[in-house]
Amino acid sequence: MNERDLIPDTCPHCGRKLSPWEQVLLRVDRALMCKGCWYRIFLDSFENPKPKVKKPGSDKEE
Ligand SMILES: [Zn+2]
Repeated sequence: MNERDLIPDTCPHCGRKLSPWEQVLLRVDRALMCKGCWYRIFLDSFENPKPKVKKPGSDKEE
């Protein structure tokens, strides 16, 4: 596993560069609040990108 490669070094929302310490927190907590834009970065979203696609005409939750 290349777990280190999954840690983003910039905020995906505003592009602010994350400090090495913030990257450590992100790896440990799996989440980090960006101090630039208050966007909540979730590490899981980088590992398992699951775009929510709703089928038209379906009201049931899967
Ligand atoms: Zn940000």
